[in-house]
Amino acid sequence: MQQIDSDKQHLIVDRMGRRFRNLRLSLTAACNYACTYCVPDGKRLQAAAYELSGEEIVRATQLLIATAGIDKVRITGGEPLLSPKFPAILQGIMDLGLTDVSLTTNGQLLPRYARGIIDSGMQRINVSLDTLNRERFREIARSGDLNTVLHGIELMQAGGLKVKINMVPMHGVNDDQILPLLEYALERNIELRFIELMNMGHLQASPAYAQEFFSMEQILDRIGKQYTFSRTDAPFDSTAVRYEIPGSGTFGIIANESEPFCRNCTRLRLSSNGALYGCLSSARSTNIRQLLALPDAEAQVELHQVLLGALADKQSENFQGEVTVMKFIGG
Ligand code: SAM
Repeated sequence: MQQIDSDKQHLIVDRMGRRFRNLRLSLTAACNYACTYCVPDGKRLQAAAYELSGEEIVRATQLLIATAGIDKVRITGGEPLLSPKFPAILQGIMDLGLTDVSLTTNGQLLPRYARGIIDSGMQRINVSLDTLNRERFREIARSGDLNTVLHGIELMQAGGLKVKINMVPMHGVNDDQILPLLEYALERNIELRFIELMNMGHLQASPAYAQEFFSMEQILDRIGKQYTFSRTDAPFDSTAVRYEIPGSGTFGIIANESEPFCRNCTRLRLSSNGALYGCLSSARSTNIRQLLALPDAEAQVELHQVLLGALADKQSENFQGEVTVMKFIGG
């Protein structure tokens, strides 16, 4: 594929100096969990109609690398390991030669795909895990098995991957798990990242958001009861604020509310049915399915226009939340 000329490529930068570098690919909207904070009433989401094929997803990624200068790709969903396209897409994306390709998964199917992931050469993986308590696990995820996830994490580490765990602490639901999970992570050289509950999907119309929101300050306060820590460096476009516990390890907080990262956001999301989103906090998107069939040069010119619009959708300061469910657009 020819590169779009470099002058044009550099034009896709907004007045705040932001450009797209990180692409999140949602392979499917379907999930084998129905987490309380993600979907209402235990309704698991199904695969969207007209999902992109594996070839289309790889083609889109290739075009976005060439047109926007994407240099990091995260494979996500829905639950990416639930998609039968996962092995082919993993291979296709790894073959594009990026130095940073990662995966976000709930870990339930990790044991099944561990060998393939390790052999693909992927270096790092994020596993979502909100509790180490078996029953609580099923109350939050409304499915799944804790031990299977823990086994999957072990397999990833044994295969040499760097593992991060994502936890969403919720007041009165799993905030008592902050310290046990941190201890579990520190003992295994895993970086635990606490995600402040985001006001998305059904939470927008529910009192649960205000009741369960557990802030960065509250998280730090809880950790301070057992550990001494100090703030440490994070990459400029990192979503997480990072802390070091001397001699023990690090942890991070993705503080959407308390310390929004919109000003440095470099993320772009491709939904499983081909819609490109510039901001998690905006429902605006453009479907790029049709342009994927165009010859390279034409596709890049059209994509360039789409990307300008997507960049303009980014919030300048704060995460506002959206009715869009995270798993539709790639968490
Ligand atoms: N199924 C995969 C997983 O569980 O990691 C990938 C998709 S999931 C939507 C990605 C991440 O989004 C998970 O870590 C999940 O906890 C998080 N998430 C979903 N809804 C959220 C919300 N309302 N607030 C904060 N995090 C949320």
